[in-house]
Amino acid sequence: MKSVKLLNTGGTNSKIAKSQNGTEFKIASLSLYPNNIICAGAKAADCMRLCLKDSGFSEMFKSVNEARKFKTDMFMNEKPKFLEKLKREIEAFIVKTEKQGFKAAFRLNTISDIDWIKEGIPQEFPNAFWYDYTKRVKTLNTGLKNYKKIFSYSGTPQYQKQVQEALKTGFPIAVVFRGAIPIGKYFLGREIIDGDKSDLVNANSFNKICGLKLKGNKNKKQKGLFIVEPCQVSECRPFDLMDSGKSFVFDRVAA
Ligand code: SF4
Repeated sequence: MKSVKLLNTGGTNSKIAKSQNGTEFKIASLSLYPNNIICAGAKAADCMRLCLKDSGFSEMFKSVNEARKFKTDMFMNEKPKFLEKLKREIEAFIVKTEKQGFKAAFRLNTISDIDWIKEGIPQEFPNAFWYDYTKRVKTLNTGLKNYKKIFSYSGTPQYQKQVQEALKTGFPIAVVFRGAIPIGKYFLGREIIDGDKSDLVNANSFNKICGLKLKGNKNKKQKGLFIVEPCQVSECRPFDLMDSGKSFVFDRVAA
């Protein structure tokens, strides 16, 4: 466990594999084990119970979440060491990727919500592309052209101020739907796209709902305001948004 690698560079995460296939990018990702410190928005959004940490390989192998916990402990208790190691791995991935004729992309918050700008990481590697999902509206605008974020929805009352703030912008909003993703329908007045196809498409989309399918056998049996039920979706764009001339403020950094 002591020589644990921080980044997953092998494309073994199925969403990462789908996202990079057929593109000019190779994506490396970092999976930690979430808690209320590295996921500061989780309490308000009530997403910890239904988090991806309990789906996929972690449902089958105990060692997956043990390795994630080891990395989270290292981040929290030995941050300088963690960041040094992370930077070395990022550098090595960029070199290897460029040699193969690809561009390097990184998703460091695969199962966390750390403000990596505050930790100084994306700024140090301006030639790489960065993206993340977040439950903290204030961190949506990274101020960097090469670091894009997607806001993550929840229906809890205490989270609605953040949802309303996100809706005033054109930043994409990721929403977890029960059952099939209602592609082409509307939620929160925005058109729903298939958000399970590609993180890169999601990150570069404007004013869309990136629909995600509820994953994990345990999670599918649960209810919660983090999950949107089929009856909450509209067939068409609400009339007041169509004809009011309302325009969304696009305050993200232009691509
Ligand atoms: S913020 Fe994301 S990673 Fe953290 S607990 Fe919620 S769903 Fe999981």
